[in-house]
Amino acid sequence: MGLLDGKFAVVTGAASPRGLGKATAKLFAEHGATVAILDLDLAQAEAAAADLPGAGHVGLACNVTDLAACQAAADALVAKWGAVDILVNNAGITQPLKIMEIGPKNYEDVLDVNLRGTLYMTQALIPHFRSRKSGSVVNLSSVSAQRGGGIFGGPHYSAAKAGILGLTKAMARELAPDGIRLNALCPGFIATDITAGKLTDAQRASVLEGIPMGRAGTALDVAGCALFLASDLSAYCTGTEVDVNGGSLIH
Ligand code: NAD
Repeated sequence: MGLLDGKFAVVTGAASPRGLGKATAKLFAEHGATVAILDLDLAQAEAAAADLPGAGHVGLACNVTDLAACQAAADALVAKWGAVDILVNNAGITQPLKIMEIGPKNYEDVLDVNLRGTLYMTQALIPHFRSRKSGSVVNLSSVSAQRGGGIFGGPHYSAAKAGILGLTKAMARELAPDGIRLNALCPGFIATDITAGKLTDAQRASVLEGIPMGRAGTALDVAGCALFLASDLSAYCTGTEVDVNGGSLIH
């Protein structure tokens, strides 16, 4: 028996083959969910959906910074499935900039995908969740939000991910009476394409030195926590931030 048997889940930014979204979509599918993968490129989203175990998974093009696109994707899925139970706001980008290097476009790009995208995709599904008095939302924040960067992303990335924490907690408070739970995941250093080839050996060694478990996390380490937060195992958890960081931040 799967933890998500009969559930319908939406995961944004899940086309990246080695990414956290794809690993989460795969684990959800293994636990019985039917999954929609939303990403920028339709062909890549469809290919990722076709790669999931089981039948009925869907790939859709959706730029999460575009409210109309989020609404169209949510409407199409509700029409197709009749219900959406779970949303994982995973789409995100980062940039390794110092404070004085952040220009207006850098700020817009990083804040828009991470923070505005989380707001818009959640807004697109809230009326549906409210109508069913049910829904579980998992938002990808980061250890960068909690400890002020220090791994890869610049201060604007830390700000965006900290914004996601505030947004998650405020929405959790507002939407709890409607039966909707929202929680945040704070991954530490996870080996995916978001940093692949972008860290020098020395940078990598110094990041690993700060991790008591002595290794980078895997996408599956994060997916497991997403599964816990998405499923009824966490039925009494809302507004939480779950650390997935190998001990690199203990607080
Ligand atoms: P990734 O780069 O492998 O995947 C990100 C995906 O988001 C890509 O498929 C990309 O096409 C998609 N995307 C980008 N802009 C989009 C948009 N506007 N609309 C829809 N999709 C869009 O990254 P990842 O490492 O799998 O990261 C996933 C999430 O986890 C991100 O939010 C990231 O900030 C967060 N995170 C990652 C780490 C890490 O160490 N890898 C740590 C903490 C948090």
